Amino acid sequence: MGIEIQFLGAVGTVTGSQFMVRAGDRSVLIDCGMFQGSPEEVSRNRIPFAFEAGTLDALLLTHAHLDHCGRVPALVKAGYHGPIFATGATADLAEIVLRDSAKLQAEAEARWRRKHPEEAAAAELGTEASAVEDDPSLPERIRKAPPEGMTMTRAALYDERDVEQTVRQFRAVRYGEMTDVAPGFHATFHDAGHILGSAIIELRVTEGDRTVTIVFSGDLGRSDTPIVADPTPVSHADFVVVESTYGNREHAAHEVAIEELAEAINEVAGEKGVMLVPSFAIGRTQELVWVLDELLRDKRIPHLPLFLDSPMASRASDVYLRHPEIYDEETAKLLQSGDSPLVYPGEQYTNEVDESKAIRTQARPFMVVASSGMLTGGRIMHHLKDFLPDPACTLLFIGYQAEGTLGRHLQAGGKTARVDHQELPVRCQVRSISGFSAHADVNELSAWLANFAKAGGTDAADGRPKRVFLVHGDPDATGPFAERIRRDLGVEVHLPSYRETISLG
Ligand SMILES: [Zn+2]
Repeated sequence: MGIEIQFLGAVGTVTGSQFMVRAGDRSVLIDCGMFQGSPEEVSRNRIPFAFEAGTLDALLLTHAHLDHCGRVPALVKAGYHGPIFATGATADLAEIVLRDSAKLQAEAEARWRRKHPEEAAAAELGTEASAVEDDPSLPERIRKAPPEGMTMTRAALYDERDVEQTVRQFRAVRYGEMTDVAPGFHATFHDAGHILGSAIIELRVTEGDRTVTIVFSGDLGRSDTPIVADPTPVSHADFVVVESTYGNREHAAHEVAIEELAEAINEVAGEKGVMLVPSFAIGRTQELVWVLDELLRDKRIPHLPLFLDSPMASRASDVYLRHPEIYDEETAKLLQSGDSPLVYPGEQYTNEVDESKAIRTQARPFMVVASSGMLTGGRIMHHLKDFLPDPACTLLFIGYQAEGTLGRHLQAGGKTARVDHQELPVRCQVRSISGFSAHADVNELSAWLANFAKAGGTDAADGRPKRVFLVHGDPDATGPFAERIRRDLGVEVHLPSYRETISLG
């Protein structure tokens, strides 16, 4: 057997990243993410792993977002006891993300058990096959033919103890240092500029007399994102696995985004309204605080109270403060000059649910930032009930909204919205600012890929890969992007399908 790659997630969709590289009898997994978004996507988390967890030699994580690390404790629970290589910041952030995920799953399980005591009892007796067929939340094709070995289980995928064990398996790596991760596997993590600790992983795999280099982009950041550095150019690979979240879109420049944000805040202030911002707790929230602090310093906005309604965001911000070694130059300089760009004056973290629910009674105007970023659950849901029907409010999207989510529905101009079984009229303003994306847009992705075509190395040959695999994109993005790469780079581009295995030599 030679060297091969198998695509176990993030194909035809933007979540569930998971890629297996095998060489001989050794195997290394890159990312082990949760599927998120529509109920159909989420149901895929219940499909068992495509391999024996105990036989895996190493796991490498690109970054701490749930769609890249969310199933790691499930892998550990399934019998993986080996090392989990990630940057120190990713390990710290992943611990927060996974603890939160375990807690949310436990809550969901308790709700389900209360509502469906018979199904819960059947699950314990192991007679759950019929429950798959009866479960209306599952897509029809899965209900009709449950994938082999799939358990129905509304039970949590893992609990707090699995997370504890996961944390013990982390091995911190530094950017730019080659690490021996398994026999014949050498990995170098490079800064991806997406969130704190995020990495592009360059994997050198040797089997017999063959060596191939595979570069995994992870999620690539933008070149002018605050706090984190720009994505590292990589100039040589035999194969590249690249994300394509925005493979069909251009973002506005960061400056334009900042201007649009200032405008929205000034309007909300004038109307004595409320600005509600759905946001990922990790990464986006810290960047938003950075930008708000800057706007305030430059006197471009009035000082509105800011509620950061997320205990997870609060803990993530602490991790950001603990890792100044990763900051970009601008943020490092601000810190040296005594400024604290990661803190907005008077910001209030609301840790308890009661505090969160009391936000609605605050004197207006004010701003609320809450999760989840795509309106698929979390505290943002009770704010939606209060603010969607209110014309003085603004719902502001600053991040990607995946197909099938409530966020995408509202962004596309939905006039009503279903929140917790309640049909609500949408009377608030709905705005979107694209320039705050933590993801490279189509031009930035192309520019990063173009680094491989630049002459480099001693043999005067350029580092162009034999083949580029496009992952982590909705179908409307991957198709056109594949065309563009073929044209610009002149290399073969492949759109893998779920669980497809491809030989790399
Ligand atoms: Zn990400």
